[in-house]
Amino acid sequence: MRTRSIGFRLSAWYFLVFAGGIAAFSIAAWFAMRASLYHAIDEALEDRVRGVQTFMQKQISSLSIPEIRDEFREHSVLGPGGDLFQVCDEAGRFLYRSIPLETNNVPVALPATLSTSRFETLNVQGHMLRFYSRRIAVNGKTYTVQVAAPVDEALEALERFRVILAFAAPLLLIAASAGGYWISSRALAPVDEISRAAQRISIENLTDRLQVPKTGDQLQRLSETLNEMLSRLEAAVRRLTQFTADASHELRAPVSLIRTTAEVAALKRDRPANEYLEALDEIQEEAERTSQVVDSLMLLARTDSGKEMLDCVPVDICVIVREAAEQGERLAQNRGVGFSIDVPHRSIPIQADAEVLRRALLILMDNAAKYTPLGGSIRVSVASRDGFAEASVSDTGIGMAPQDIPRVFDRFWRADRARSREQGGAGLGLSIAKWIVDMHGGSMSVESELGKGSVFTIRVPLAVDKARDSY
Ligand code: ADP
Repeated sequence: MRTRSIGFRLSAWYFLVFAGGIAAFSIAAWFAMRASLYHAIDEALEDRVRGVQTFMQKQISSLSIPEIRDEFREHSVLGPGGDLFQVCDEAGRFLYRSIPLETNNVPVALPATLSTSRFETLNVQGHMLRFYSRRIAVNGKTYTVQVAAPVDEALEALERFRVILAFAAPLLLIAASAGGYWISSRALAPVDEISRAAQRISIENLTDRLQVPKTGDQLQRLSETLNEMLSRLEAAVRRLTQFTADASHELRAPVSLIRTTAEVAALKRDRPANEYLEALDEIQEEAERTSQVVDSLMLLARTDSGKEMLDCVPVDICVIVREAAEQGERLAQNRGVGFSIDVPHRSIPIQADAEVLRRALLILMDNAAKYTPLGGSIRVSVASRDGFAEASVSDTGIGMAPQDIPRVFDRFWRADRARSREQGGAGLGLSIAKWIVDMHGGSMSVESELGKGSVFTIRVPLAVDKARDSY
């Protein structure tokens, strides 16, 4: 027997509760039976006393004591319980005393010492007798009438009942507990089956699912919940595998470019100096790009593990945007793209980690510069609306096709892999920016039209006081 199984514990509790219940029931049943037996006997004794009283009230004035005694003897022999009764007056003289009681000298209380009536059970010569003594008044005098009846049979019946209970209760208890254990083991058997099936599932066969018993109970729900969990795990592992594959791919390209550039430069020893410089420039550019990708990957890894924490304090989003715009403007100028900002002079306070939020804005400005052809323009603006601060970066660039828009925040996603690769993107910038905005309790949206341009908007909740002012 597995003492640690739920089935065993349930049965043990069931046994204890049932044992308590059956013990309480047996005791109560025994007392109830005893009470009803005594009740029947006591009622018969009371009847007999009433009979004696009626007889005395009728006859005592007309008959002498010996005549009364004869009458009693005659009638008592016929009555139930035999002639077990005695009557005494105030002075303790017996009007009548049946022979068994006289022989054993059974004491009787004087009328004056008896409150009204009294029941008692006494052992007389090895026989259990139930006595009922009652004070009665006849013709201005008081008497004690005491009647008795044997209770041996009743006590024997009671004893038989006790023996039956003493044997039947443990048997019932054992049978019920064994049945309870069997039922609970059967009911819980599918749980073992589920845990065995779950043990067989590992990272190699995450596509496997548990069998769902169509019972409509908790076990069905448990299997379904585990299957849902497996689906989530499978998706997470797939994302992780994809991420690792994409990351290696992103790193392999620049590394092999560096290697081939270096090899070619090294093989042709009689090259002019400017060709070596060109090769070195190319190597440096690729190395920089690689280290940017590695930085982004490390940041994403930290965000995934929940280790990247923000230090949010009240700040003015206008200041952050202006600072980011200074760098953004330089990037735009380098690519021959116009740049303008529309930031209000008043302050718009938000709770933010200024450095991290600046990074998100810079990603948007960098993208706008990268994907806007020569002669285009970028506009950065800030406004407060409906309890949120909104910072938008719009450009007149190449834009995106409608089907591409929902994927822009996916890791390693690029609208046109070959094109943006040339411009240095690994497809990680927007996923990092989105994570940053999410961590500020905000949201990010994009509107874009192919060939016309794009607008990326960051929405961050206003700091509480300001939120109230803006309404
Ligand atoms: P990348 O480093 O490749 O720019 P991002 O995550 O920042 O990666 O952007 C993902 C893709 O979204 C880009 O490769 C590009 O195709 C598209 N994209 C982002 N910003 C813009 C923009 N302002 N205009 C047009 N396309 C954009």
